[in-house]
Amino acid sequence: MVQHNTHFSQYRVSEIMRTARKRANLSQATVAAKLAITQGALSKMEHGQITPSAPQWFEFCRLAGISPDSLLLGYLESNRPIQLEEGLLETGYRMEDRFLKQRGLKVRALLPWANALKEKLGPDAFFQACKARGIDGDIFLDHDFQVNILVHLELIQMAKENGLEIGHLPALFPTSADRALATTGNSIQDFINFERTNTLDFAFKVGTSSPSSSEITIEPAEHLKKLRNWKPEKVGNGICQQFKQTLREAFRQNGEEVVAIHDEECLFEGNGKCCSYRIEKRPARSA
Ligand SMILES: [Zn+2]
Repeated sequence: MVQHNTHFSQYRVSEIMRTARKRANLSQATVAAKLAITQGALSKMEHGQITPSAPQWFEFCRLAGISPDSLLLGYLESNRPIQLEEGLLETGYRMEDRFLKQRGLKVRALLPWANALKEKLGPDAFFQACKARGIDGDIFLDHDFQVNILVHLELIQMAKENGLEIGHLPALFPTSADRALATTGNSIQDFINFERTNTLDFAFKVGTSSPSSSEITIEPAEHLKKLRNWKPEKVGNGICQQFKQTLREAFRQNGEEVVAIHDEECLFEGNGKCCSYRIEKRPARSA
């Protein structure tokens, strides 16, 4: 059993090295030569069997273009703004082409799914399950990497097959760092702004609001129509449930408790062109 619950574990160094090398589209041979080690030694580093020395680690970071702090974070993140990516990809990730068209979604937006699955299956089985679906499991450590919504659909499918309660996934919510960037003082608006930095697939619109109810609609973006396999009704309501979970959290942070969320019109049930929610709420009782 591999222990990986400390920041400096070999397991984490190895994952970061493997992901960063693929992200930079460098071969093992190239990196090994620059570090003056054999390719076999590099392979062992990438699989947690040996640890790089400090000079090797810093040289590796320079080569792969990552911050040495990545080791403390446990993932790669540059926080660049999202924009729709359509061109061919120059990375070493092993991804089927169908996931790399109309890339409007940052991997960060998929973390609630990926992390829940990783926890349920264990890291190695999760990686194998991804591989079987044509997805490189290492992308989930590269939070700025962009894929299309078909990766999301595969994760939903995996979640269902593994008996994960989709409605109980943690909400992806702005961290304190994200909040410091653009705080409006309104958690709903902060959440919507945050969503825009992670996915271009949906547009959230806030409608009329009163102390007891709010209306929010979610429109799918035009570019999704170009994706042949994007059939919302096939997803079931996995994405819809995640939206609802996140909205509950957003209202909670605004000091309001969601009593019920009604789907006035639901894209994911196959009827209608958007999700339109009517949210019943009340002031949260203080603890
Ligand atoms: Zn819905």
